[in-house]
Amino acid sequence: MSTKTYFRCGKLFDGESETILSDQTIVVENGKITQVAASSELPAADDITEADFGTNFVMPGLIDVHTHLAYGNAKTEEDIDLYSSLEFRALRGVFFARQVLASGFTTIVAPGDSGMVSRAVRDAIDAGLFEGPSVTAAGPYITSRQGLTDWYPTWIGVPTTSIGVLVTSRDEQIEQVRKQVKEGVDAVKIAMDGILRRPNGELVAAFTMDETKAMVDEVHRLGKIAITHARGREATLYAAKSGVDLIFHASEIDDEGLDAVLANNCAICPTLTLLRNTLDFVEPEDPAFREGRANAWRREFDAAVENLQKVRKAGVPMPIGTDSGFAVTPFGEWHAREIEIFVKDLGFSPIQALKAATSVSARVVRPKDKVGRIAPGYRADLVALNSDPTKNISVLLERDKFAAVVRGGRFVSTEKTLYDPKRVSDFAMTISSDLYTRERVAELMMQRASHEQGSRLN
Ligand SMILES: [Zn+2]
Repeated sequence: MSTKTYFRCGKLFDGESETILSDQTIVVENGKITQVAASSELPAADDITEADFGTNFVMPGLIDVHTHLAYGNAKTEEDIDLYSSLEFRALRGVFFARQVLASGFTTIVAPGDSGMVSRAVRDAIDAGLFEGPSVTAAGPYITSRQGLTDWYPTWIGVPTTSIGVLVTSRDEQIEQVRKQVKEGVDAVKIAMDGILRRPNGELVAAFTMDETKAMVDEVHRLGKIAITHARGREATLYAAKSGVDLIFHASEIDDEGLDAVLANNCAICPTLTLLRNTLDFVEPEDPAFREGRANAWRREFDAAVENLQKVRKAGVPMPIGTDSGFAVTPFGEWHAREIEIFVKDLGFSPIQALKAATSVSARVVRPKDKVGRIAPGYRADLVALNSDPTKNISVLLERDKFAAVVRGGRFVSTEKTLYDPKRVSDFAMTISSDLYTRERVAELMMQRASHEQGSRLN
């Protein structure tokens, strides 16, 4: 039996061209695309399997370059770092990777996870042990005493199960890059945002320019992808000047930062989904919204949108990423929301946003994955939709709009698998949700009484 399959496509977006073609056939052999041609040129034959997407919109499998496989849909930083073993996180990561694939995302980057969890998930999927997207894996974020992920007091330090690893000298920075590369990562993640703010409100970077450059140079010398988390102006500037491959957020990028991004051909992944979901869904009593923090989130979102529109206009490559793995961005649910945000907030046309989610995102995945395009030589990762996303980008968020998801030429399930979230994360040992002073108790009693009176009246 021939291994050749003809995928008959009603409409085809190839990931690169902004022209949508009609009545095309994709020829797939041994998991790879070998030919794309008008259907009339490739008549049916007895020895060739046919997959009929004649009424569908077909495009490359989607890519999310910002997921955290070890996080487990976490509600707290302790959830991320402390409460489950690395072994459990790896098994959980396999499950969640599967949920991502079922939502049409056939490739992910996992930049920053505890231990070698992402690498383990990557290898298990590559070996065919589990179905999942292909994973570009990183180890823990490299951080300093002034950096993101070093969030516990110094007397606790950064636990070995944390998503960060603390380096306290120039030698340790370089040693950590070499260690992670030896352990098999595809990418190295550096936590560039600091903790302190200057009197003008600006975030101080976690590393100096020289330190950043030394780490990025070593990552590149060893042939790996350099990735940074950087919201602040200074962190973004140092990352860009060091020539990192990918910057997450860049919310406070200024003209100097943008010039460095352009000069060094860096990509910027806004990852606005986390912020947008927080603003839209988090309940007023949630800690995320306490003490006027809602306004701070909104200011950051608005500033990021303004700055990132400039980034788009300057022609910077902007991949799609969601920060999936938090309770507000659970796996398999919101990956396409970033594509929607690109259209609704950042001024991308739908077709440009689809390019961002395919060929543009593909530039920051491990080189051995030839993905993000429908062209000869590329892996046969495809999604077929019942609806045209260039007319309404939001259909990508709706599972029932997916007629099929294909990875490496094979059909995969688009079903959601249910699980018990309470047994997956959420292990923080919170005893009380409030502080019960006599005053607070009196207030609560008043509230309860008026609530009871209200419900009696209804
Ligand atoms: Zn992240």
